[in-house]
Amino acid sequence: MNLMALGLTERDYDCMVSINALTFKGWPARVKEISASMKVKPPTAVGFLEKLTGLNLVEKGNIGYRLTGRGKEVLDSVTRAHRLFETLLSEAGIPLDNACRISSSIDRHVNGDFLEALCSVLRHPDRCPHGSPIPGGVRHV
Ligand SMILES: [Zn+2]
Ligand SMILES: [Zn+2]
Repeated sequence: MNLMALGLTERDYDCMVSINALTFKGWPARVKEISASMKVKPPTAVGFLEKLTGLNLVEKGNIGYRLTGRGKEVLDSVTRAHRLFETLLSEAGIPLDNACRISSSIDRHVNGDFLEALCSVLRHPDRCPHGSPIPGGVRHV
């Protein structure tokens, strides 16, 4: 997923990551929690949330926010890119912590076609070198 193509900044994406982490147990994320997690003031967080809601990546309920299905797809796609790059870099002999850092700097900026080509070259791994599942990897089995 290329965040720029979606009109998203890094901080918009950080906001989605925060919501995802905060709703891990199924509860909506409240503005207070989201702003604390992003280390910004609540009105700033509301600005991100309004933008993301307008793009249908986040939805607002009675007591807080959560990702939409589309929002989760975006997150999964970036996670997929991250773990595929880690696999590539570690196969190239780069130590894992370094591979993880490099992957973080590019995982938000790739398009889908490139990612599918990379996945094929890597023979469709379903786990990254950390052993974490690669989202979408099962599709290829
Ligand atoms: Zn990593
Ligand atoms: Zn990993």
